[in-house]
Parts: sequence; C-alpha cells; structure tokens
Amino acid sequence: MNKPESLNQAFAQYPTEALLYITNRPPLVFTEGSGMWLTDHNGKRYLDWLQGWAVNCLGHSPQCLQDALVSQAKKVINPSPAFFNEPSIKLAAMLTEHSCFDRVFFANSGAETNEGAIKLARKWGKIHKNAAGDNRFEIITFEHSFHGRTLATMSASGKEGWDTMFAPQVPGFPKAELNNLASVEALIGKHTVAVMLEPVQGEGGVIPATKEFMQGLRALTTKHNLLLIVDEVQAGMGRTGKLFAYQLSDIEPDIMTLGKGIGGGVPLSALLCKEAFAVFEPGDQGGTYNGNPLMTAAGIAVLEELLKPGFLQSVVDKGNYLRDGLLRLSDKHGLESERGEGLLRALKLGKPIAGKIVEIARDLEPQGLLLNSPRPDLLRFMSALNVTTEEIDLMLALLSGVLDQIAA
Ligand SMILES: *Cc1c(COP(=O)(O)O)cnc(C)c1O
Repeated sequence: MNKPESLNQAFAQYPTEALLYITNRPPLVFTEGSGMWLTDHNGKRYLDWLQGWAVNCLGHSPQCLQDALVSQAKKVINPSPAFFNEPSIKLAAMLTEHSCFDRVFFANSGAETNEGAIKLARKWGKIHKNAAGDNRFEIITFEHSFHGRTLATMSASGKEGWDTMFAPQVPGFPKAELNNLASVEALIGKHTVAVMLEPVQGEGGVIPATKEFMQGLRALTTKHNLLLIVDEVQAGMGRTGKLFAYQLSDIEPDIMTLGKGIGGGVPLSALLCKEAFAVFEPGDQGGTYNGNPLMTAAGIAVLEELLKPGFLQSVVDKGNYLRDGLLRLSDKHGLESERGEGLLRALKLGKPIAGKIVEIARDLEPQGLLLNSPRPDLLRFMSALNVTTEEIDLMLALLSGVLDQIAA
C-alpha cells in the first residue's frame, strides 16, 4: 500500500509502510483526543462514535485515567506477575464485590481472556468427566459470534469464512443459533463441557440475547452439568446500563470475561469465575503482563467512575434518548429498524450503504463524524458512556445530513 498523498506531505519523516498492512485506513493520523472528540494531524476535529471500538467508556483521555496512570507510573509499573501488587488485589476485590463471581484473573486483551475461559472450562471438563470416563472439552458457541483473533477464539467465533481462513481450526466449538434453545440442546453430547455466548452479539450486528433465552440457557446448562460462560468483552462494564450484561437477565453465569471498557482505553481484560470452577493449578495459566499495576490502576479508576451513584442510570437514560433519536431518524429516512441495549446500539439501514455513510460522515467539514459499520447494511453506535445529550443530538443531525446527501 502506498501512503496517501496528504499523509506523505504531513508525515514525510514517518514511513507508514513500516507498519504491516492489515487493513485499509483513511489518510488521517489522530494526534489528540478529549471526551467524545478526536483531532487529526491537520487540526480537524471529529465527533467520535467508535471510541476505540467501545473501549473508551469514559471518552478519550479522561482526567481520572490520566491521574491513575501517572500516579501509578511513578510508584511501580511491573514488579512481575510472580508477586502481588496493590492495584490488582484492589480491582479484583471490587469486581467480585459487584458481581456474582469469586475469583479474577487479569489479562491484556479480550481474545486472551477468552482463551483463558476456554482453558478453564476444558480443565474443569477433564476433572468432571462424562459417564464413560472421557474428557469433556466441547464448548457450544453461536453463529455470528465474535470472541477474538487467536486461533482458538477464531474457532469459537461464528464469523462467516473464519472456519477456513487459517485452517485447520482448533476443534471443539459446534455452533448453535442465538435465541434458539432447541439448537443448543441438539448440540449437547458426551464431550460437551460448556456453552459460551455474548449476551449482546457486538460484531455480529448488536443482537441481544433475549432474557427468556438467557434464562433457558441457564436452566439447560445446569440440567446437563455444563458451564455457562458469558463473553462480556463488549457488553460488560456498564455498556448496557447494567454493570454486567448478564444482570439484564437475572441469571448467574459460571464464568465471565471482560475487556474493552474495563481499561477505559488501555489494554486490560479479566476472566472471572465462581469458586467452584476455579480449577487452575500453578503452571496452567499466566502471562508476563497479567495484572500489572499500571493497567489495573487504570481499571480501578474506570470502575470507580461507573460505580458512582447515578452513573449506570444515566447510561440507561442516554441509551433511551439515543434509541428514540435513531427511531426518528429511521422513520424520516425510511430505514429498516434500530436495536440494542443501553449505549450499544445499531441502526439497520435496509440497504448496503453503511460504507458510504461512514466515508461521507468522516469527510464532513468543518467537523467530521466517526461511525462504525460492522456490516454493509448496519451502523453500530458505541459512544463514551458519559456522552452528553447534546453530543447525541449533534451526531443525529450530522447523520441525517449524510443520509439526505446520499438520497439526493
Ligand atoms: C472485541 C471483542 C473480543 C476481542 O477482544 P480483543 O481485545 O480485540 O482481543 C472478544 N469478544 C468480544 C465480544 C468482543 O467484542
């Protein structure tokens, strides 16, 4: 890939070709961020509805995160995972206090924590064998699901084409249909050990699992002595208006993974389980950076914000405000529908114009709008959780203008 002309001029001293080509990026370099806004190398500002893909739950560079990182960096950055450190102990205690889980393992990415969940389930299945005495290792996952980009998590994912992309896959991940309990039951066999799902499928197009389905899954997995694993890498940490998305369904899963929002922008993820399933022994699980105090100090700062009185209610309120605005937009422009939970929402366009919308919105002057389209006919909205109603209104107005432009 050749560097776009405008970048050649602005960044002549930096050869962007040195970066391995993995995706098409627009000819922009973002140099600053604050709240819902990003600024590029020309000084142009963009209202950012990606937020690092639902990562910056408090917006770009919030003061609390800056303070936590600076103050921890001055104390100690990494004494090694062989030793305890204060922030990881404190964050684990906060997470267990506010969830149904008892034990926490910190990692650095969503994929890595899901690998940990898969390993934990397989280990448990080795201890709790089937009637014939064989290991149990199969984990039922779902069509259109997304669990990460390592080999095992790609195999667990139900993304089209991923079964052959880096074949052979890691075996043991049969796929069921979301919100279809019979399709799960049909896949349960003697080697099944767990069911793993996103309570709201994010990359798949913001498709919530229904409360009835989640409750049905809980009953089904309990009946068959299977683990229920929720991947809340995208839907957890206040995104749906609950601290954790499983709380929308009044159930208690056995294992949960967190990522994205938990670090507010820095690489942090977590694997949580109930004590009965905490079967790792020394040597089973680890990682050089796991639970390092710099990242877990960031996690504490984020969680303290989310736990402030009224914060989660404000996510619910702004989620409703955004939903109403998207519905009005959908009506006005003859689009298909909108769906989601809290501040994880999608607009179904009814036609494959999402890519065009994303480009036109980005190029708007004097201020651009950054949008995300996980599918050609769908836009996904992942604002900061502390987005203001004015910022929601501005996004809706800009998007409406783009839709007018496309129709013209
Ligand atoms: C983003 C995502 C992952 C992968 O997280 P990474 O940090 O990119 O490895 C896993 N599961 C879900 C539901 C996600 O949205």
